Amino acid sequence: HDEEAAAKAAAINADNGAPTIFDKIIAKEIPSTIVYEDDKVLAFKDISPQAPVHVLVIPKFRDGLTQLGKAEQRHGVILGQLLYAARIVAEKEGILDGFRVVINNGPSACQSVYHLHLHVLGGRQMKWPPG
Ligand code: 5GP
Repeated sequence: HDEEAAAKAAAINADNGAPTIFDKIIAKEIPSTIVYEDDKVLAFKDISPQAPVHVLVIPKFRDGLTQLGKAEQRHGVILGQLLYAARIVAEKEGILDGFRVVINNGPSACQSVYHLHLHVLGGRQMKWPPG
């Protein structure tokens, strides 16, 4: 019933445009282990890692991107920057030879934080199909 609970939690936190915990991480009001940072992008270790390497890559300015499904053409540049930052993270973490980038979009994909984020996962054999 873990899956049911996760789906329920995700549904409760469904996209309402409210600030998220990631705002506090960006503001460094709550600590995180930063892997990469520039003026547009922040990458930090996930608090509940699902692989030996599990890093979240987020835009510093959410700009309406609570989830990928809200993306508009004007977001093209930041979307590219996020994906490129995922590659930088993979190199820094030593997993360039094998890593996975995941975006959970919406309650049925168990998205729990409504500030767009890429999961960069690696350091173990990944399985396909994902759960
Ligand atoms: P989602 O389920 O929305 O795709 O992913 C949200 C991720 O954020 C989860 O993997 C969760 O572990 C991570 N997360 C939630 N709160 C915090 C936090 O306070 N610090 C860090 N580093 N990660 C967090």
